[in-house]
Amino acid sequence: MFLHGTCRQNQHGHLEIGGVDALYLAENYGTPLYVYDVALIRERAKSFQQAFTAAGLRAQVAYASKAFSSVAMIQLAQEEGLSLDVVSGGELYTAISAGFPAERIHFHGNNKSREELQMALEYHIGCIVVDNFYEISLIEELCKESGYTVDVLLRITPGVEAHTHDYITTGQEDSKFGFDLNNGQTERAIEQILPSNHIRLLGVHCHIGSQIFDTAGFVLAAEKIFTKLDEWRESYSFISKVLNLGGGFGIRYTEEDEPLPATVYVEKIIEAVKANAERYSFSIPEIWIEPGRSLVGDAGTTLYTVGAQKEVPGTRRYAAVDGGMSDNIRPALYQAKYEAISANRIEEEHNTTVSIAGKCCESGDMLIWDIDLPEVKAGDLLAVFCTGAYGYSMANNYNRIPRPAVVFVEDGEAHLVIKRETYEDIVKLDLPFKTKVKQ
Ligand SMILES: *Cc1c(COP(=O)(O)O)cnc(C)c1O
Repeated sequence: MFLHGTCRQNQHGHLEIGGVDALYLAENYGTPLYVYDVALIRERAKSFQQAFTAAGLRAQVAYASKAFSSVAMIQLAQEEGLSLDVVSGGELYTAISAGFPAERIHFHGNNKSREELQMALEYHIGCIVVDNFYEISLIEELCKESGYTVDVLLRITPGVEAHTHDYITTGQEDSKFGFDLNNGQTERAIEQILPSNHIRLLGVHCHIGSQIFDTAGFVLAAEKIFTKLDEWRESYSFISKVLNLGGGFGIRYTEEDEPLPATVYVEKIIEAVKANAERYSFSIPEIWIEPGRSLVGDAGTTLYTVGAQKEVPGTRRYAAVDGGMSDNIRPALYQAKYEAISANRIEEEHNTTVSIAGKCCESGDMLIWDIDLPEVKAGDLLAVFCTGAYGYSMANNYNRIPRPAVVFVEDGEAHLVIKRETYEDIVKLDLPFKTKVKQ
């Protein structure tokens, strides 16, 4: 068992997060409940930024808000001096509603609609990360109509795919995202953008994977990009002011995971960019990175109440909780692993093997297989760790289960930042059968 951030055992033998007793949180806000340790988010944000500051480099650390987007979270990101990635009109709207400075917002996505692009132009956001030829012509058209100008990065696929422990290099990447760096596509995109009076090409972007524990993939991607930058300086007199190497920095979901500290990822990236800039006689471009999971993942804990149990004699014991794939779809979607403890009996020995089931109507709705807990009883409070990224943001209303509330805790105080959905919320968009809807 291991505890993240400010999680600890208090004098009552309960789990405490950010100085707040988990039982108090459950009683006050109900379960399931997402609890975010604000101090840990701040610490992570600072460590990504520190390495750049220490190197005296201009940089942007952009929070990939798809990991967890809410008004309060975006305001916290702003307080910590982060920039922001959005990938849809909804995420952009959330950022603007939170009062986030538009000039530090970057817009991603492989199929941005005309309306979404128009919105981005009207808000004068910092840059659009252009993904495909269709998008280039849409932006050009919209800018011509409205007179706007916009900065863009080109999203390229360098032919490096990074995975948890290793990476693979592919001549041509089979991905729905971006322009291939190796087959002339990127050059065609540059040729389309450079003559534009409306679109300014700031630089290039790549994102090579997620939950990455190694730095070799980032180093290789930087090398591949610089080789091309050298050619493009020659052929187009194009100099990339910005090099965005994406996100994907790994976190520790279970004891088996061994991610690097944030500073190490950044130091290696800086080292690689510096070395290549020197080798090709470029001044060092502004380095941007885009951590999502690694800023908020281990800061999030989900509290559940245990209900029914089922024994399959000689095989397994199931304990069901009051949530499941509706608030955390990652185990069902990609066999993600989590650790959990009994939040009300933390000091008791965790020595009884049990599997944690969700309450959704799917056999695959299992949160954790075979975990050691104290002999669980109905009413026990279960804390599942590291649910801060892609938990709430992927939450859904399967089985018409209302989405849980979200609470921020820091220095002994709790703040509700997203209300729990109600049954009224569940039916609020529904219309009665045979309603005449005005066309
Ligand atoms: C998802 C994504 C990120 C963040 O990924 P994490 O694994 O959460 O760090 C960053 N950049 C882009 C373009 C992404 O699609």
